Amino acid sequence: MKGKLIVVSGPSGAGKSTVTKIARDKLHIPLTISATTRKPRQDETDGKDYYFLTEEEFMKRVNNDEFFEWAKVHDNYYGTLKSEVEKKREEGNTVLLEIDVQGGLIVKKKDPSAVLVFFKAPDDKELEGRLRNRGSDSEEIIRKRLENALKEMEYEKEYDYSIINISIDQSYQELSDIINH
Ligand code: 5GP
Repeated sequence: MKGKLIVVSGPSGAGKSTVTKIARDKLHIPLTISATTRKPRQDETDGKDYYFLTEEEFMKRVNNDEFFEWAKVHDNYYGTLKSEVEKKREEGNTVLLEIDVQGGLIVKKKDPSAVLVFFKAPDDKELEGRLRNRGSDSEEIIRKRLENALKEMEYEKEYDYSIINISIDQSYQELSDIINH
């Protein structure tokens, strides 16, 4: 049987990456690597965190119809390659995509069986604190991400489930219940 398709989205800083990583480890969900035109952060590796592409390389793949979905987020392009999704699902693996809300809606349109999960921080102050504590981004980038977070919140109603990330353990439990549902 074809594997499930789960999409996790929500403002950056809401903790979705941490919980998604735990879910992948505990539930043995294979890693799907996105492509992006964003520059790598200090601790990131090409082919592990992302496929880091130039805009030209990214657009070439867009024109070759290689993307399952792609979107422009915070001034950069991000996308999930079909090659990262289709084979894994055919083999019966669950695929868990951590992508932005635009990408989430594209996925749902393409495959209505996809389950969309929205992650949010308990409140705006908490979110700002988490974005600042990450320490790796400039003030301008933090401000842009906060603005974007507020915009992203408007998409919550289009999602199948919402998880308020109060504790990592509890959020993981909720996500794993949704995945195993
Ligand atoms: P970051 O730059 O912090 O790694 O990611 C920024 C945003 O891009 C996050 O909301 C993340 O979920 C989203 N993103 C990462 N990969 C993809 C992807 O393949 N497609 C889409 N649409 N968004 C992505």
